[in-house]
Amino acid sequence: MPWHILSPEEVLSKIQSTPQGLSQHEVEARQKEHGENALVEKGVKSPWAILWEQLSSIMVLILVVAAGLSAVLGDYQDAVVILAIIVFFVSLGVFQEYQAEQAIAALKSLAVPDIKTRRAGQSQKVPAPRLVPGDIVLLEAGDQVPADLRLIEAHHLKVEEAALTGESHAVEKSSAAIDDKSAALAERYNMLYMGTQVTYGRGVGVVVDTGMNTELGHIADMIQNVEERKTPLQNRLDHVGKVLAGVAVAFSTLICMIGLWRGEALKTMLLSAISVAVAAVPEGLPAVLTVTLAFGAQRMLKRHALVRKLTGIETLGSVSVICSDKTGTLTQNKMTVTHLLDLEQCLNLDSVKPLNRLSPNLQLMLLCAALCNDAEIHGETSQGDPTEIALLQAVLTQGWSLESLLSAFPRVNELPFDSERKCMTTLHQITSIPDFLTPLAEAYPEFQEGAYLRLTKGSIDSLLVRASEAPETQWQSQNKARAGEGERVLAFGYRWLEQAPETIDEDQLQLLGLMSMIDPPRPEAKEAVQTCLAAGIRPIMITGDHPLTASNIARQLGITQEEHVLTGRELEPLSESQLQEKLKTYQVFARVSPEHKLRIVKALQAQHKIVAMTGDGVNDAPALKQADIGVAMGITGTDVSKEAADMVLQDDNFATIVAAVEEGRIIYDNLRKFIKFSVAGNMGKIGVMLVAPLLGMPLALAPIQMLWLNLLTDGLLGFGLGLEKAEGQIMQRPPTPPDESILGNGMTRQILWMGSLITLISMGLGAWVWIQEGPEAPWQSVLFTSLAFAQIFQALGMRSSREHLWEVGLTSNPTLLGMIGVVLLLQLGVIYLPFLQQYFHTQALSLPLLLTIFSVNALILCIAEGLKALGKEV
Ligand code: ADP
Ligand code: MG
Repeated sequence: MPWHILSPEEVLSKIQSTPQGLSQHEVEARQKEHGENALVEKGVKSPWAILWEQLSSIMVLILVVAAGLSAVLGDYQDAVVILAIIVFFVSLGVFQEYQAEQAIAALKSLAVPDIKTRRAGQSQKVPAPRLVPGDIVLLEAGDQVPADLRLIEAHHLKVEEAALTGESHAVEKSSAAIDDKSAALAERYNMLYMGTQVTYGRGVGVVVDTGMNTELGHIADMIQNVEERKTPLQNRLDHVGKVLAGVAVAFSTLICMIGLWRGEALKTMLLSAISVAVAAVPEGLPAVLTVTLAFGAQRMLKRHALVRKLTGIETLGSVSVICSDKTGTLTQNKMTVTHLLDLEQCLNLDSVKPLNRLSPNLQLMLLCAALCNDAEIHGETSQGDPTEIALLQAVLTQGWSLESLLSAFPRVNELPFDSERKCMTTLHQITSIPDFLTPLAEAYPEFQEGAYLRLTKGSIDSLLVRASEAPETQWQSQNKARAGEGERVLAFGYRWLEQAPETIDEDQLQLLGLMSMIDPPRPEAKEAVQTCLAAGIRPIMITGDHPLTASNIARQLGITQEEHVLTGRELEPLSESQLQEKLKTYQVFARVSPEHKLRIVKALQAQHKIVAMTGDGVNDAPALKQADIGVAMGITGTDVSKEAADMVLQDDNFATIVAAVEEGRIIYDNLRKFIKFSVAGNMGKIGVMLVAPLLGMPLALAPIQMLWLNLLTDGLLGFGLGLEKAEGQIMQRPPTPPDESILGNGMTRQILWMGSLITLISMGLGAWVWIQEGPEAPWQSVLFTSLAFAQIFQALGMRSSREHLWEVGLTSNPTLLGMIGVVLLLQLGVIYLPFLQQYFHTQALSLPLLLTIFSVNALILCIAEGLKALGKEV
């Protein structure tokens, strides 16, 4: 349908809608007919795909070869056990992956934007997938276009359509019909397309196509085939995996040769080689990684941080600078007007009720506050920018009726607010003068029916630039009086016009006065700032607000003790290196524009900082993309900023960023813990295999026993360890350098001593029984059981690398405790149950012997705790 050649009225009648929107009944009927307004998702993995992935993993393939080999060689018992182990590993993997997928899908569905619509004459917010053809949608700067729309109203509306046309410059839109049926997409100036972004102005459109019927839907196949890339951490882990695989091959060849040289059967040695190889690779790692990341994202969500990209989670752990907005993030965004000022006076709003005693200029200022305003108040509920809501509330306290103001002075043109200009202007026609404004009309002879009133509000600096003549220093000192107290100050100006101008400008205005409002700091932000400082993270405040306001709030929060603030104007002429120099001393940046934010991020990154940066406006998108962690505001943020961000704060709260950083650190910690645990344990097992022949003993562990131990550790204990809670000191140490190897920071050393300790203890016990009671004794079962117990105590000792087990709390990781119980039972079952004995080549151990093994292995835990007491990391 060529909607663009029709007039708005024709479009509405064709699609059977009105400017007031559809009735609820009609919406439901159309939802049934058209379905969800969403692109068909191809991203989510099906359980079958997950199963296939698991089955085709290298580890499983090796095991299948081992099982086949055993069967061919006539050892059916081994083959059965290996198959059982495969089934167990694969089910565990599928289960974990599936849970992770579900968690990620849930996160994705949360990222759906709410759209402002008009239905049955009421404006309401609707999730984008619930839109239907005929819906009336209201859009403003920063919104994502949620469906294909035909415009019925447009005010300086500019849209960026790069997603569709490749053109990155914003296009101006209008509602007029176009006389060219075959106009290209890019030339249909009265259409808005799904997936494009409003960068300026506002507009109203009627939905003409939804879901896969949209232009974006037609090309959706192309977009969706982009494969999800691996995160840097996944890449680093892959690398570690490859190194370990190399080590595994080397050791298994070595063990195979030693065995053959000692005269073992070829079959046994081949199987041993395979099981050693399997043991050396931490095959639990990919599963633990996916699960830790996905569950980590869920935990972050509980703390109100929605992660949009999994890469974000790992980067969060190494964040070293957090650049935060002031308004709404560090402060509550609950604005209340406190003072009205002009050059003569500074009135406390509470003391001036009723309003009629105000001087005419202050009354006109209140009129400006009411009209040059995009917020709405209906009874108790309000919508819009908190600054503007506060202004409306101030006007209401004076007993004026907003409705009569809006109908007496309709808005005929406007220049929307933007954070570069830091002001906004509206033009109103005076159609009538409500009774309560008669005193005002008497004071201003130009205030007459038929005339026009142009109103501007914004920062004092931006209005002074646009004022025809104003005593600048006096206004500035009035402004300072309130800004110095940490209040947000807005200035108001006006101009009478006899006729509506062709194009609206903001020049030659008369200043009316100032209104100041408080926006108290968030109490939890102060604590979060302290946490940052203790964690070696630098908090920086970047705001569009006045330097005095900014510095006052920053000092209240403890971000800085200094008064000095760098302003956007001072920053502008600085060279890159000068800016980097300034960044060493300044914590507060005021009156900055989004462009400056981008420069600040780049300068910090040039100093090798990992930067988190917040933003809410459409112009913040470049800075959010440039930052290592772009953080958008869930409540006040624009869709465009959310789209560009790695993380969305659902509560707009600074403290949430810090909480997310903590979660990021926990995840990284737990992955390292898992690797340490797994690699050290495997080293212990391989060590036994290597040392036994040197002592003149036969093969230390049967291949099946090796595979079994590997299952217990990597599959069960390691998984439990991955769910460990935060270490107490986690926010009291500096961030991990991003280029530090995952095996770095003393980890290799810790792995080596732990692995050797395990080998020493198990080998010692096995050899002792062998020497005492001869080759017929159950020395192999002793070794086998000792290794299983060793890993239990190892896991307990490694729960925290610095804190003692009793400080962490023995029961604080119930999953791990459960896993330990399962491992104990399984191991005892394998040793004592006769029918399992034959599969696992085991013999029953006497109770004293079992207890000896248990107590000697408890040494591992004791030594670990002892080292911690000496201040060493385990
Ligand atoms: P921040 O969010 O860091 O406080 P903004 O970019 O939102 O900074 O605002 C910068 C300045 O622009 C404010 O200090 C104020 O003077 C002015 N301003 C903010 N909101 C509005 C608005 N809705 N209309 C006019 N001026 C505004
Ligand atoms: Mg703001």
